[in-house]
Amino acid sequence: MLNYNENELKAAAQRTANAYVKIANTRLGCNLPYPIPVEFDLCEERPKAGGQAHSMPLKIKLNMVMFIDNVREFLNQVVGHEIAHLVVYNRFNHRGLDAEGHGAEWKEVMRKLGLEPLKYHHMDVSKSLEHHKKMKVAKRKSKKREAKGDEE
Ligand SMILES: [Zn+2]
Repeated sequence: MLNYNENELKAAAQRTANAYVKIANTRLGCNLPYPIPVEFDLCEERPKAGGQAHSMPLKIKLNMVMFIDNVREFLNQVVGHEIAHLVVYNRFNHRGLDAEGHGAEWKEVMRKLGLEPLKYHHMDVSKSLEHHKKMKVAKRKSKKREAKGDEE
């Protein structure tokens, strides 16, 4: 496996997201923020998800633990998938981010971005779940330490 530097991956995801936003803003009638904010801490909240789109403020979140092991999938599919949610949200009156998020409009946007409208990913989530668990334990411990007023 190639050894990627985390900062390079983040920069690549940001470039990819920006490229899709540029298409959306110039050709699909959107006015999304450019550059679009991209965050990388999704593993903490949703360890099984590769990405997530947020409406307020408009941004996307990626799962960095999964990204490292699935670079191509992220750059070729996940980033565009999440931007497509923002496009639907931006264009079709706030309907892109709910449970119906992968409907006809989202599929059409995906095709216009040159992507296959796949709802689910098939990436291995075990490392991400493990990381998520470890972080929860670490957080609990640090909270306990704070409560005790540890002098360490
Ligand atoms: Zn989705």
